[in-house]
Amino acid sequence: MLYIIKNSIILIIFLSIGTGVCAQDSSIVIKTGHIDSSGLFKLLYVPIAVPAGITKIEVKESYNESGNPDKNVLNMGIYDPRGYTPANPLGFRGWSGGAKKEFFIQADQASTGYIPGKIQKGLWNILIYPSTIIPAGIDWKLEVKLIAGKDNNEFKVSPTPKSINNKPGWYRGDLHTHTLHSDGKRTQQELIDEAKEKHLDFIISTEHNTNSANISWGLYNTENLLIINGEEVTSTQYGHWNAIGLNADTYIDWRFTPEQNRIGQMISKVHNNGGLSVINHPFFNVKYINSFYYDADLFDCIEVWNGTWNGLNDRALKWWDEQLRQGKKKIAIGASDTHKKAGSPNYLGVPQTVVYASGLSKNAIINGIKQGKAYVTSMDDMDINLSLTAESQNVGLGDTLLLKAGQRFNILLRVKNCPDTIVTLHSALGILKTIAIKTSDESINWKLNGDAPTFLRVEVRNAQGDLLALTNPAWLNIN
Ligand SMILES: [Zn+2]
Ligand SMILES: [Zn+2]
Repeated sequence: MLYIIKNSIILIIFLSIGTGVCAQDSSIVIKTGHIDSSGLFKLLYVPIAVPAGITKIEVKESYNESGNPDKNVLNMGIYDPRGYTPANPLGFRGWSGGAKKEFFIQADQASTGYIPGKIQKGLWNILIYPSTIIPAGIDWKLEVKLIAGKDNNEFKVSPTPKSINNKPGWYRGDLHTHTLHSDGKRTQQELIDEAKEKHLDFIISTEHNTNSANISWGLYNTENLLIINGEEVTSTQYGHWNAIGLNADTYIDWRFTPEQNRIGQMISKVHNNGGLSVINHPFFNVKYINSFYYDADLFDCIEVWNGTWNGLNDRALKWWDEQLRQGKKKIAIGASDTHKKAGSPNYLGVPQTVVYASGLSKNAIINGIKQGKAYVTSMDDMDINLSLTAESQNVGLGDTLLLKAGQRFNILLRVKNCPDTIVTLHSALGILKTIAIKTSDESINWKLNGDAPTFLRVEVRNAQGDLLALTNPAWLNIN
């Protein structure tokens, strides 16, 4: 047996409520157990019976952490009586992964990562989930305080505005951010303030396995900053993906294995919200192997650039390029995946995805990304514009140029605020053109025959070979 729940101790304490009119019971439930190494990545639900009259739940988790060189990590979340199975997660009330050892939930507020609301009587389930286990195993303890009292007014979902303006243009955003609602170190306000300092037009909020930030962005003064709801659907075992463009109260479950073939249903749920699915940092380990185990063909986008440029990103870029060559129209995006504390070196917006959209709104930005009208850059003021022309046609990123076999067409490329760099033009045949640019406003004009390439995209690198920008493709349809 993987788990032993050794005992359950219930201590009854008494609290006087009000002025002696009535007294309701509060109690402490203690559960302990041991998980041996075979319990790695196994979901363990610890049931807690909650009687009527309870208005606050406090949970404290403790376990033996230390080992050498590894240590135990026991992730944690909770479900109320409405349901806790992956097929019926209606009772989802929050997740903190390995970032917290204690949390509370009550009607009007909850710890970050958790969903405030009334405490229903019935069977709650605390989910504990080991993502690393030392040879000695994990000796765990959950101390659950069930506190009786008077209910405050229930928290109301406060979603962020879905639209700032309807002006067509290029908008700069960070598509992958964390706050204290998962394992980030910023508050929501600090993330807003820094996004404004960086002159970002939008950010996407992507906490690990919870929508607790999404239900509260509307409480903050975001002014001209668009916040789009998302979730980083995080399985330590099978990979991370971002659901972006969600409704504030949508929760996407992470507990499916690739063999269960449910990921398509999860992605449909994202699409029904008007959103997109993104494979995150597919090469996220020291071995440089692809660590994404779900069916990649089901996803809309690939995060080819996560944080500071490095070899893992380079590998992801090659993987995306291989898929383009196979005719798979995956959209490339880049994002900081920032977890930093406010005031530390600020990697918010490094890199950022710049999207052509019909306005600064959730629907327009998501639509711009979906169409591939987007490029990625690590520079706050760098602009790149690729257009293809043939006779009366003039198309840009994400568009398709229609050509007859052998027909000549023009490529116009403009690169601003990125001097002393190397620009390369890529197609299904590899690199077609390379040019060094010197100034901060360069226009390049090439002519090609519509023979072989099925797409054209651009990369800009510095002298050391680090990527500074890349575009999504413009497509060629040759008859
Ligand atoms: Zn991740
Ligand atoms: Zn992340």
